Amino acid sequence: MMKKIQIALDGPAGAGKSTIAKQLAARLDYVYIDTGAMYRAVTLAALEQSLDLNDGEVLGELMKSLDIRLTPGENGQRVFIGDREVTDAIRSIEITNNVSFVARQKEVRAALVTAQRKLAERGGIVMDGRDIGTVVLPDAELKVFLTATVEERAARRHRENIARGMDSDITVLQEEIALRDKRDSEREVSPLRQADDALYLDTTEMTIDEVVVRLMELAEGVLK
Ligand code: C5P
Repeated sequence: MMKKIQIALDGPAGAGKSTIAKQLAARLDYVYIDTGAMYRAVTLAALEQSLDLNDGEVLGELMKSLDIRLTPGENGQRVFIGDREVTDAIRSIEITNNVSFVARQKEVRAALVTAQRKLAERGGIVMDGRDIGTVVLPDAELKVFLTATVEERAARRHRENIARGMDSDITVLQEEIALRDKRDSEREVSPLRQADDALYLDTTEMTIDEVVVRLMELAEGVLK
């Protein structure tokens, strides 16, 4: 039987990680795990319970009772808190602009990292996030750090929003993305950082297909 590896994709907001990870997982018949969705689900629960997003202890308590479930769906990963589906609710602007505060808390990270390692333990996964190659799966067989200029990342988000019929302002998007990158890169616990053994891929001038083809070549190289 062909061995099933762990693939870690990290990078800043809007670098195309989830689109690419989803396609890569489909081609390899692997499971795709979007770890950002887990931080988003915690943020949703914390906001609904009016918790202080800067209080690690309180959020640590919340983690003890929070049952976050990920299941594969037709259009990618579905996210549940208990039996309630939150796949769309966790994509709101309010969650997007608050998630970095929650993700900064070590109590939250410890609980989610444990869950993520468990999901990955049998291999056959493509996991995307900010600290997958550095902290969650330091032994992943393939690690890639995907990035693009902030202008290009905002432009991509803008086109997605327009295609979904949403209001969108590219200047605001650029500011929000830059701020989230700053918070994610400057936090004390597990900041966004390229792992020493990760391949750096700037996708500013690449199409999604080109990136997927490149990653397939890399994966096949490891699997040979
Ligand atoms: O990938 P996505 O944009 O959905 O991630 C939302 C947020 O979750 C990030 O901005 C970051 O604050 C946090 N995150 C993280 N570590 C991960 C994945 C996401 O801190 N592995």
